Amino acid sequence: MRRIFDRRRFLQASGALLGARVLPLCLPNSAYAAQLLDQASVALLETPLNQNPFTLGVASGWPQPQSVVLWTRLAPEPLAPQGGMSPLAVPVKWEVAADPAFKKIVATGDALAMPDFGHSVNVEVAALQSGRDYWYRFHAAGASSIVGRTRTAPAWHDVVTNARLAFASCQNYEHGYFAAHRDMARQNLDAVVFLGDYIYEGRGHDGMVRKHIGQACKTLDDYRQRYAQYRLDPDLQACHASAPWMVIWDDHEVSNDYAGRSEAALDPQFVQRRLAAYQAWCEFMPVSLPHVLGVTQSKLNQALTHPQPTVFGALSIHTQFNWGQLFNLYALDGRQYRDPQPCAPIGKGGSSTVLAGACPQLSDPSRSFLGAQQEAWLKQHMGQRSVGWNILAQTTLLAPLHMGDGDAARIWTDGWDGYPAARQRFLHDIAHSHMRNPVVLSGDVHANWVSDLVVGANADDFAHPKLPVIGTEFCGTSVSSHSSWKQEKAERVAAQSPHIRYVRTDQRGYGLIDLSPQRMQVSLRYIKEIVQSDSEIGTLAQFLVEDGKPGARREA
Ligand code: FE
Ligand code: CA
Repeated sequence: MRRIFDRRRFLQASGALLGARVLPLCLPNSAYAAQLLDQASVALLETPLNQNPFTLGVASGWPQPQSVVLWTRLAPEPLAPQGGMSPLAVPVKWEVAADPAFKKIVATGDALAMPDFGHSVNVEVAALQSGRDYWYRFHAAGASSIVGRTRTAPAWHDVVTNARLAFASCQNYEHGYFAAHRDMARQNLDAVVFLGDYIYEGRGHDGMVRKHIGQACKTLDDYRQRYAQYRLDPDLQACHASAPWMVIWDDHEVSNDYAGRSEAALDPQFVQRRLAAYQAWCEFMPVSLPHVLGVTQSKLNQALTHPQPTVFGALSIHTQFNWGQLFNLYALDGRQYRDPQPCAPIGKGGSSTVLAGACPQLSDPSRSFLGAQQEAWLKQHMGQRSVGWNILAQTTLLAPLHMGDGDAARIWTDGWDGYPAARQRFLHDIAHSHMRNPVVLSGDVHANWVSDLVVGANADDFAHPKLPVIGTEFCGTSVSSHSSWKQEKAERVAAQSPHIRYVRTDQRGYGLIDLSPQRMQVSLRYIKEIVQSDSEIGTLAQFLVEDGKPGARREA
């Protein structure tokens, strides 16, 4: 069953690489991998497993003009400790084909699923053609995975006539089924943009649609089991297998309302907890690990053979994706670098609701939402390339909700409303970048809010209806998570806010974008019965943004 790694036999087994550069936990060359394994004395699994190890499906992401990340994880018993795997490295073969039947295989290679990385496989396949579909699958321990379909980004100079994207966020497993993902999987998407709250870290509750296993996630094993529970959902698996993902996170991938290195209960062990959560995120998301971990390829292989936990202490998840001349998408991190929420009750962290006049911290210009480094990075890169559309994918509602009286005079401090000076800089930088057609995509608040973005001299300028519109925001509702706002309350706030074009808090779903050089059409898809796995799905409303005319116009 097991034995210490034998270099000669591994070299025979690992076979030839067909001209593909192979990244993490993969073997840039077999001799290097053999050396690595020798040093680490990692034992290799050589016999077939009794059970299918591909229970968690496949995924792809990080689409670039010549490369894409392919993902799977070996877990014959996905909810058991270590996924039911023994602590052995497992050789995994991957294949990429130009057709779904694998008649024309264009790249193949070998990777190792390492026990200390939860037997996840993360392969960045390079030397692919730009702007086209590929199909991929994995083989390991006598079994084969399902086939996934993915897509590379068009080349930078390519004129692209259309693209179809989905944006989604907030999928509390206990609150409902993932019909949104089933619908996304059918849309022949170029990419899925996921905006955070992929898992919810809380304990299991009785009386819900479904139940989280176990207590609130604290340890690496807890987070691994939680991701596995979510990833066992067939609709979520189908969505991952249907298109590449561009993914950012929000708070619940770690802990409700956390900000940087502090969290709501001010737990002194929080840094350890965040580290475990970040490692699990790396293990499950189809992201470029060299980019996210900020290491070279050779360091990455070492790091993942026996990961030092500090590797996952800080992750660089913000990046930009380019889609030919059609769009640039800036994926932003709104959690890791933010200052704590202002005016938290004594002895607590996290969010609260405050009256604007009673919280002097709100006007402190030094407080940041994206962090100084990310702000500078974004300012430098926005508009650097001239493309038709500039999509800013970020965590939470950007448009302010605090104007007016009554309910609207109170500020929820976890959103951008709690960081008004930082929002003002963000909007100012967007306006002054002169990039074409800025569109902000957001999630987190479990409701659809469609807004015109304006910028003036100070943070209260949204109250002036005469200011020029500089961009458009589509804040999408949750895949399944409950909304805490009644529709009537939201409508009252919207009535006092001239920039808000539409609000709907009582429906779950996602946003579907059809993009051409001339127009962006956004359909707000909704789930008729979130408590039914086979629910019907429809379109709640449809909006149009025309090239050169910021602001959304309702079509249907
Ligand atoms: Fe959420
Ligand atoms: Ca959130």
